[in-house]
Amino acid sequence: MAIGYSHFLVQTERKTQVVNLTEKIREACAGLGPKNGILLIGVRHTTCAVCVNEDEAGLRHDFERLGEALLDPFRGQDGYRHDRIDDNAQAHLTSILLGQSVTLPLRDRLPVLGTWQSILLLEMDGPRPRTLDLTAFGE
Ligand code: ZN
Repeated sequence: MAIGYSHFLVQTERKTQVVNLTEKIREACAGLGPKNGILLIGVRHTTCAVCVNEDEAGLRHDFERLGEALLDPFRGQDGYRHDRIDDNAQAHLTSILLGQSVTLPLRDRLPVLGTWQSILLLEMDGPRPRTLDLTAFGE
């Protein structure tokens, strides 16, 4: 059993943005150590998320409306309390719902993905520098 670690930085450019991390993660997996096993991809932040989904222009556009669509019924008449601090409660709450890590099979030093699957960073409070962590367990 071996464990490998890596991390890298992504600078997002807009308030809401989908960033395709797939190629960067494929490249990083080559140097992680384990060849086969499990790959954990995590983000160190509270107002973005990572997911596996299709990187398609229409979906990227639809994502920009997701937080509002999911959370508007919960905003309440007084708005979100956290907005009094730094006006990004919707980004925090969407991050909670979408999740800050994904786990994938690792085969031959590559994450196993289906034809239409990409590993995506979902920025909801950009532009910001975002740190991604990779941890591989296996042999
Ligand atoms: Zn905040």
